[in-house]
Amino acid sequence: MSAALNLLSCPCCGGKAQFDSDVEQTRVMCAECGISTRSYFTASEAANVWNRRTSDSDTVHAAVSVDVLPALTDGNS
Ligand SMILES: [Zn+2]
Repeated sequence: MSAALNLLSCPCCGGKAQFDSDVEQTRVMCAECGISTRSYFTASEAANVWNRRTSDSDTVHAAVSVDVLPALTDGNS
């Protein structure tokens, strides 16, 4: 069980953010436009990255879903 983690709204569209978890990893993605962080081992880490998302290269930036691409192409992590 994890404590409820507060997620800020999407930086691109203002939509509602939600966790997207698989067996081992969790990421935060926007339910509206689909941008996401990369996957992390803990929900809190993903939430921290999502909520930080300023000029950090590790987070979504502007309207470009920069983290979606490595998440999809680098599937052997
Ligand atoms: Zn969005």
